[in-house]
Amino acid sequence: MKRVVILGGGTGGAVSASRLGKWGQPGEFEVVLVDRSEWHEFRPSYLWVATGKREPDEIRRPLTLLEERYGTRVLQATVTGIRPDANTVETDQGSLEYDYLIVALGSELVEDAAVAGYEAPWELAHALALRERLRHFNGGRVVVGPLSWPYRCPPAPFEVAFMLKYLAEQRGVAERTRITVFHPWAQPMETFGPQMVEGFRKFLDDFGVGFEGAFDLARHDRENRTFISSDGRALEYDFAVIVPHHRAPEAIRTSPLATADGYMDVTLPSMRSPRYDNVWGIGDAVAPTIGLGMAGVFAHFQAEHVVSQIIDRERGAYLGELYNMVGICVMDTGYMGAAVWCNFTDKLFGRATVPDCRLLGGMRAFRAVKVGFERYWFANLFGH
Ligand SMILES: Cc1cc2nc3c(=O)[nH]c(=O)nc-3n(C[C@H](O)[C@H](O)[C@H](O)COP(=O)(O)OP(=O)(O)OC[C@H]3O[C@@H](n4cnc5c(N)ncnc54)[C@H](O)[C@@H]3O)c2cc1C
Repeated sequence: MKRVVILGGGTGGAVSASRLGKWGQPGEFEVVLVDRSEWHEFRPSYLWVATGKREPDEIRRPLTLLEERYGTRVLQATVTGIRPDANTVETDQGSLEYDYLIVALGSELVEDAAVAGYEAPWELAHALALRERLRHFNGGRVVVGPLSWPYRCPPAPFEVAFMLKYLAEQRGVAERTRITVFHPWAQPMETFGPQMVEGFRKFLDDFGVGFEGAFDLARHDRENRTFISSDGRALEYDFAVIVPHHRAPEAIRTSPLATADGYMDVTLPSMRSPRYDNVWGIGDAVAPTIGLGMAGVFAHFQAEHVVSQIIDRERGAYLGELYNMVGICVMDTGYMGAAVWCNFTDKLFGRATVPDCRLLGGMRAFRAVKVGFERYWFANLFGH
């Protein structure tokens, strides 16, 4: 029996475990999934936790359910090292050998004293902290933005801004509220092509939300509640929501799998390490390397494609899931729902400079799409 070790029980890791369980034959694989958390969390719903529409237990499931449904061995441990030359992973609970390794450790947020206390809901703890701050939200000058790019779910800072606009109206303070999104991009959604820039400009205009582009934060003057960019622009605020810097997880950065910027190196379209034939990387841990945005949909399809390859290796022939390079990020803006749909195929293979993207929805009924996405996610993977 071959041992497949999966690092990470987020989107890519949980889908990998489920597909190995569903598509593998009895006795074919021993699957071990390692995560430091006991939970699988559905990150798109963090915004609903922050705005009081969901409680933490509604947007997460215990990873041990994978044991019951798919026979996965779940090890709650922190990965401290990856040694592909020895087919071994180090954890704080001991080392693990593997025949095949799937690295799905995502990205991690950098703790930054400069913006401490203002973090956007990109982790559950930050979502709960924002919910507390929103109790006292009374409009005024509102600033939302990411410190750098890439970060999880490119359109999500805009979604946060639109939700705050909605909240300001609900609380009757919209008249005295001015919301601004700042961003390292010169134009909203710039790296997603002209159609997205145009669509998001229209959204910003419709919602009356300002945009401060090419904003590289140099200093935060807490006393005077002002963010100052490297070119001297000042953004004063009464309420701020900041997406922290993201980086590759330490276990990858310190391993021979890393590129110069710390994220994992993989070859397209196999998602296999160029140096290690039995090691694959999926999801946010490889997104910057291959030029994709960080989205769970990509991690999902990559997981299926990688599991297909592992089964093919073992059985001699298995035509499984082809690599689908299409992703979607769904937004609930309060007033209405919308989604950014992008096909990255031509961009990833160097035939286009930007992905082929469409803005979908823009109507109230489309909010249900995000609810459906969440429900489907848990039902499909965990049964409820
Ligand atoms: C607000 C928000 C909205 C979003 N909306 C969408 C959307 O609409 N559509 C979409 O497709 N995507 C969306 N995303 C992005 C999506 O959540 C991520 O792209 C996706 O979760 C990435 O999957 P992953 O498997 O690569 O990593 P993750 O899901 O982040 O999983 C990584 C796992 O690794 C574990 N881990 C990390 N380091 C270690 C270690 N050293 N030892 C042990 N375990 C470790 C973590 O605990 C985690 O469980 C959104 C994200 C946010 C924050």
